[in-house]
Amino acid sequence: MKVLIVEDQARLGQFLKQGLIECRYTVEWARSCAEANDALAQSTVDAIVLDLGLPDGDGLDLLRRWRDSGFNEPVLILSARDTVEDRVKGLNLGADDYLPKPFSLDELQARVRSLVRRQASVKKSVLEHDGIELDLLSRTVKLEGKPIELTSREYALLEIFMQNQGRILPRTMIAEKIWASHYDVDTNLLDVYMSRLRAKLDVVPGKSRFKTVRGVGYQFT
Ligand code: CA
Repeated sequence: MKVLIVEDQARLGQFLKQGLIECRYTVEWARSCAEANDALAQSTVDAIVLDLGLPDGDGLDLLRRWRDSGFNEPVLILSARDTVEDRVKGLNLGADDYLPKPFSLDELQARVRSLVRRQASVKKSVLEHDGIELDLLSRTVKLEGKPIELTSREYALLEIFMQNQGRILPRTMIAEKIWASHYDVDTNLLDVYMSRLRAKLDVVPGKSRFKTVRGVGYQFT
């Protein structure tokens, strides 16, 4: 497993590199946007740890270009910018996680491990989580072994959650994926679909698997 670090500060970069080598990852370290793009052009990576303030550009622009060009590996943003708006912006651009600086090495290691693990499960054709099985090939869903009827929109919605277990997904991002449109989607419609999905898939009364994160979106736990 290979992790790319994009960080311009020498001391911090070295610290990150050591910390990830401890987790037995192969680590490549880029100090600028240009070096990061070169590294990705030369080999594949399993996860990226991305700083935002870089000498030749902004990490968010880099992330936007990667996602626009179909680069789909997990990205963890590491940044001193730490308002809710910053986080939502990063998540909307396709980051998988956001860790504010200063951070603890233990936490960084745990989050990178979980991203790499999640990425490995994305490559399977049957996704499983807590009694739900979603078959990406036959596009069918089972709950505790029994088939569940879902409309194609409900299925698409569930697939996004199954591919992003534990991750907080902004409403706008979910809506754009489901309705495949860059126009302003009426996100009230999303609430309608969420309540249908909850009705079909929640088994414990009063405790939803689909957690509402106020002001941001939903989290599948
Ligand atoms: Ca920096």
